[in-house]
Amino acid sequence: MRNILVIEDSPLVLKILEHLFRQEPDLEPIFCASLAEAEVMLDTSSDLFFAAIVDLHLPDAPNGESVDLVMRYHLPCIVLSGSYNEQRRDELLMKGVVDYVLKESQHSYEYAFRLLHRLDHNSHIKILIADDSDAQRHYIRHILEPHHYQIIEARDGKETLRQLNEHPDLDLLVLDHSMPGVSGFELVKLLRQKLRLNDLIIIGVSADPKGSLSAQFIKHGADDFLRKPFCPEELNCRVMSTLERRDLLRALKKAAEYDALTGLRNRRAFYEQGMQILQQAQRDSRHISVAMLDLDHFKQINDGFGHASGDSALVVFARALSSFFPDMLLGRLGGEEFALLTLHGADHVNQALEKLRQHCAGLHYAVGAPPLSFSAGLYHGEPEDLESLLHEADIRLYRAKQQGRARTVLA
Ligand code: GH3
Ligand code: MG
Ligand code: MG
Repeated sequence: MRNILVIEDSPLVLKILEHLFRQEPDLEPIFCASLAEAEVMLDTSSDLFFAAIVDLHLPDAPNGESVDLVMRYHLPCIVLSGSYNEQRRDELLMKGVVDYVLKESQHSYEYAFRLLHRLDHNSHIKILIADDSDAQRHYIRHILEPHHYQIIEARDGKETLRQLNEHPDLDLLVLDHSMPGVSGFELVKLLRQKLRLNDLIIIGVSADPKGSLSAQFIKHGADDFLRKPFCPEELNCRVMSTLERRDLLRALKKAAEYDALTGLRNRRAFYEQGMQILQQAQRDSRHISVAMLDLDHFKQINDGFGHASGDSALVVFARALSSFFPDMLLGRLGGEEFALLTLHGADHVNQALEKLRQHCAGLHYAVGAPPLSFSAGLYHGEPEDLESLLHEADIRLYRAKQQGRARTVLA
């Protein structure tokens, strides 16, 4: 739970904010209607707050004094204002407020909430500013710092590469084009040979008056480009939107690869990952163990105790499977059918399956439901192709079912 200090006096704006906060279970607003009230609140409990949303004009603070108050307590400050004034906006941004939001439409209020969510995530985001000009690096740092990113700097191409090596978890690179040694553009080409688009966001920066450089940057794999001089808002918007785009892509990728119910890999992702393990095993001349697992009489659980109990059985089983086989490739291939693949020997897998079987018998998943039981077919052989390995395991699974279920067939 994050407490947000809201300093605002307009009943209409308060109504909108209250409505939006109700949809945010992780954000708790604390409202103050005047500067005086906010002074008391911060004086007594500033540690409680994560960030502040602040009205620029209050009856007892007509000139943005509320912003100065919040900044004195080093709280991330999002400013709300009824009117747009470019000079005022620049002053505020240079003062270090997170952003300036106009009270004009629902969209702008939603933007303020997007900022709050990003602030929460940003402390885990690492940004490298690569620029040979001290002034320019400081300017960019000054713009990004209020957003709570972790910021690192590099003065030339060489240092950029060294920082990237030292921080493989870097999320975003703000990259100046004209640097001594390796140019920004050369670096983009170099980096994109090694790092996939999803792993590192690159925003190119240059004072180049021609438009062609921005196109070249983007064609060679930069995610965005800024032409100097740029205003603070422009940099912030581009950083935020590229990060949001990357997060969205990651979420999509995860949804496409993992089963929503059990969190295990789905069939497609299991095959994809399985192929890689197979190729590695071929290179190392190693054998592979593959098992197919299927819950016994699962239809009876659905029919007798409801579909939700069936789902709960699947979740409980998948969790147990993951804990008994933490270092193996696991997947839910469909319905109540699971698979595992590993370089471990058949005896090792067989013993672990027995332990899992005993553990499952004691698992609770629905009131009055029978113990959870599964059959398995296990095959150990040369890593030829995945389809035939799974087929061999499936034949053995079929035998396990025929021989009375609740067992593993190996031979
Ligand atoms: P056996 O011991 O021979 O494996 O019998 P079984 O009843 O386990 O197998 P069967 O293939 O007859 O039935 C599987 C059932 O699993 C049928 C299907 O409706 C149900 N099922 C498939 N996916 C899901 C799911 O995501 N949730 C639930 N609750 N049921 C599912
Ligand atoms: Mg079954
Ligand atoms: Mg089945």
